[in-house]
Formats: sequence, C-alpha cells, structure tokens
Amino acid sequence: MELYNSLIQETHALTDKLPAQVWDYDEKAAWPENSSSELVLQKDAAFELGASGKGSANYVLFTSNAELGGRDQVILCGRDLKDIKGDCDFARIVILRIGVLDDEDEAVYRTLKDIEFAKYHVYPQGYMVRISPESYREQVRVSRDAVRRGISFKALGMNYIRAYKKDPNVISATVIFLTDPAADYAALRALAKKSADVTGTLTHIFEGLPTDCSACALKDICDEVEGMKELHFGVGAKGAEHK
Ligand code: SF4
Repeated sequence: MELYNSLIQETHALTDKLPAQVWDYDEKAAWPENSSSELVLQKDAAFELGASGKGSANYVLFTSNAELGGRDQVILCGRDLKDIKGDCDFARIVILRIGVLDDEDEAVYRTLKDIEFAKYHVYPQGYMVRISPESYREQVRVSRDAVRRGISFKALGMNYIRAYKKDPNVISATVIFLTDPAADYAALRALAKKSADVTGTLTHIFEGLPTDCSACALKDICDEVEGMKELHFGVGAKGAEHK
C-alpha cells in the first residue's frame, strides 16, 4: 500500500522543520477514557483546539514502507495542553504502517476504512472531539477539570495508538499533534483533502468504475498519485478475467 507515500513525504516536509517533542508508545501513560463520547459544555471548557476561525486539519495516511511508517510514537509540535490559555490552531495527523495489504483488492479498501474508524472509538475524559470529514478539520473542547488533572498530548497520543493497534493489520502508529501557530494549517488541510481523495477514488475503483481515464472525473488525483492508475487497470483486468 504505497498510494499515500507522497502525502507522507509532504507531511514531513511541513512538520519536520517545527520544534517538536517526541515520546515512544507507553500504553500505561494513556489518559483515562469513558465508554462513550463525553459532552463538555462550553461553561466547563478551558479552551477549544481548532475552533472555528483557527487553523485545523485532521487526516490518516497509510503505508507498508517501514521507513516512512516510522514507529509507535507521539509527536507534538507546539504547546502542550497545560500551557494553552485560549482557543488555538490544531491538527492531528496519523501515519500508520500496515502489513498484509498487498493484495490491493476490495478487502484492502475495507480494511483501510475499518482502521480509519478507530478514531471514532477514542473517548478521553474531558476531551470532546468533533470531526468534520467534509472540511478535513477536527475541533476539540477540553474541559477545565481535565486540564487541572494534567491531560497532555503525550497521554492522548497513547490512547490513539492503542486504538489503532487493536487492528492486527497495524504494525505501527505515529500520532502527530500540532498547535504551533507557525505550522501551515491550510497546506495540511490540502493534504487531508488529497488523502480523502485517494481513499474516495479507491471506493470508485472497487465499485467497478470503467477504466476510461479520458472521460473520468478522478483523472486529476490519478495523475498526481503514483500507483493509482496501475491499481485501477489491475482491478479492471481482474474483472475482465471474470467475465
Ligand atoms: S485510473 Fe483512470 S479511469 Fe481509473 S479512476 Fe483513475 S482516472 Fe479514472
């Protein structure tokens, strides 16, 4: 699964130049969770991350490449939660190294979607997440009580890694949080859109879209993403064999 590799490289180009703190995965450091999403009322909130009018981006990228996939770790570029005093920019990017997905058929796509849905099953106490897939943003309301109790991105990253690693196809998970005002959130959101376009194109391909690039609305993304056309023509050829 190398379709997202160029997006991983572009993500690194945007984030590697920022000062960062890095922590290796330690499940014991995870923040306490609820069994379902917690409602944090505005009156109880310390601040919002990625609130409207602030920079925000959220996406997941997949690779089978060991070097690009990194390892189980949490990276923070910018201030940690204890040091944030008001609404601020926010991005959360996840890079997953996956295995056993080289078949490149419909099962691969289903597996990617299943893995991606893990983000909806993380319910940290005092941390209310609102994901907006259409705008590639993630907005979080953090409670004053959680800040008082010491909630941190290090701990939250462990919650996310634990959730992703429940899927046996996930070999490693890198979670990158950004609150640095110097980060280019518009460029990160553009990468989030491209990632969603790749996943969306996979859906169409596996739904049996005809292999006619000259008349295809997805041509732009396929021209840009290495391997997409090969994947479609491979799938098309398999389909033809079955006819
Ligand atoms: S490979 Fe061609 S036909 Fe297939 S989705 Fe891409 S542009 Fe469309």
